[in-house]
Amino acid sequence: MKEYYDAIIVGTGAAGLYCALNLPERKNVLLITKQEADQSDSFLAQGGICMLRGEEDYNDYFEDTMRAGHYENNKKAVELMIRSSNSIIRDLLHRKVTFARGENGELAFTREGAHSQPRILFYEDITGKQITQTLLNEAKTKENIEICEHMTMVDLIARDNICGGIIVMDEQNQVYPVRAPHVVLACGGLGGLYKNSTNYPHIAGDGLGIAMKHQIKLQNIDYIQIHPTTLYSKKPGRRFLISESVRGEGALLYDRNGQRFTNELQPRDLLSQAIFAQMEKDGTDFVWEDMRPLGEKTILNHFPNIYQHCLEEGYDPCREPIPVVPAQHYFMGGIQVDLGSRTSMTGLYACGETSCNGVHGKNRLASNSLLESLVFARRAADDIIFGRTPVKNQLLQK
Ligand SMILES: Cc1cc2nc3c(=O)[nH]c(=O)nc-3n(C[C@H](O)[C@H](O)[C@H](O)COP(=O)(O)OP(=O)(O)OC[C@H]3O[C@@H](n4cnc5c(N)ncnc54)[C@H](O)[C@@H]3O)c2cc1C
Repeated sequence: MKEYYDAIIVGTGAAGLYCALNLPERKNVLLITKQEADQSDSFLAQGGICMLRGEEDYNDYFEDTMRAGHYENNKKAVELMIRSSNSIIRDLLHRKVTFARGENGELAFTREGAHSQPRILFYEDITGKQITQTLLNEAKTKENIEICEHMTMVDLIARDNICGGIIVMDEQNQVYPVRAPHVVLACGGLGGLYKNSTNYPHIAGDGLGIAMKHQIKLQNIDYIQIHPTTLYSKKPGRRFLISESVRGEGALLYDRNGQRFTNELQPRDLLSQAIFAQMEKDGTDFVWEDMRPLGEKTILNHFPNIYQHCLEEGYDPCREPIPVVPAQHYFMGGIQVDLGSRTSMTGLYACGETSCNGVHGKNRLASNSLLESLVFARRAADDIIFGRTPVKNQLLQK
């Protein structure tokens, strides 16, 4: 690791990697991550990534996103995300990301809760891994990108509300400064702070804490998304997600007597509330999710990873309902950014789950977050290339 870079990016999830890949090769970029580069929530995304399928779907896609977000969304951010989706997907295909296709080779689309149309691209039930591993592989081939694993950002270098780098800590607890005129926080959400979460435990809101220390503006920090369906387990650690697209494809929820008690495809916050209420009424720690209506072929082909994990936990989803419980899943709030992913501190950007541009409002629509991460990571890169650079940044000197 050097002392000086053109840009430092904190986080090797979809947002961090895509931002790095969108910077020109003449820029020296440092990417750091707390653990191994492939240990990010982006790798865990199962369901898929949304795409506007055509002008005829624009109003529905916009309305679905707004309705899920309780109409608290930033309309301009929503429009930008939806309108950018085709160029993002084209770019991913160009970078050799694979998505499921139909018999004639056309892209296949699935549906999740609160979507009025199937508009989600997927790859089995490991879409996030498919996208993020492809980006990581590409980043590793770039001479201008240095990836430093097991390196933790512990502070920013900042004075007079101008950022000039970060303070990092290595595995031996050595602490040192790394300087750059542009710093991008792509350090994910805060699930690691919760007892029950689908997130990696090391993704624990570090960027937010550091931002608070420097009086950087935050937004909607109480907007936490609880996912309605994670596999119930008595074991400690990360909760295993049963993707919303399982319900989108026809799975049903039952109470303790095997009776349906709610609409399985309502927005996540409302469904989680319905499940919690049912658990209380039944005096149980979970409800049942029945995947059998999907049929064995769909379960095995579309959801092989979920199927395998359930088997390992002692349940066969082709033959019996599985126990599910809501758990913390996503953070809609974050470090406040504008549409160029700029924070309130000069030279400091934030993108992906750690940021809040208002696109999700109070509640995120399924499969909008990978798309949002990529759209606004690219906008951060564009702003670094074409935007304002602090003219005199004395922090860049030793
Ligand atoms: C189980 C699961 C399933 C999901 N399914 C979907 C889906 O189907 N579709 C969808 O759109 N979204 C889905 N999501 C949400 C989506 O995956 C995330 O919101 C998105 O990938 C966030 O990307 P990111 O790059 O912002 O952060 P992450 O991918 O979480 O990466 C954060 C990075 O920051 C690093 N980091 C954190 N703190 C520090 C620090 N102090 N110093 C150095 N590095 C640090 C981490 O090590 C990591 O590399 C899912 C999430 C989960 C958990």
